[in-house]
Amino acid sequence: MPEELHHDWRNLSGLIEATAQRQTIPCRNGRQPPPAWWTFDDITEQAAAAGACTACPVLAQCLAHGVKHPKEVGIYGGLTEKQRASAAREFAKETP
Ligand code: SF4
Repeated sequence: MPEELHHDWRNLSGLIEATAQRQTIPCRNGRQPPPAWWTFDDITEQAAAAGACTACPVLAQCLAHGVKHPKEVGIYGGLTEKQRASAAREFAKETP
């Protein structure tokens, strides 16, 4: 794992773990859908997982991580890998 990705993942993971101590993080300690759905390939399960992200207290931070690292497997911030790759391209176009 590249150093920058490792660093960013440690930061996001720490935020998720700390927040999960007092709030619900759908992919970590939520009841439905099952946490495995965030990394499944099934489009229906991905959609359910992405929908659950909308209630996440760290949605913005997770989305920023996912767009910065679009090749990371699974749902980040409510977006699939394909959606994050598209968002990353759009962001790059808008950033001089
Ligand atoms: S935004 Fe979604 S993928 Fe990210 S931590 Fe929250 S529930 Fe998990």
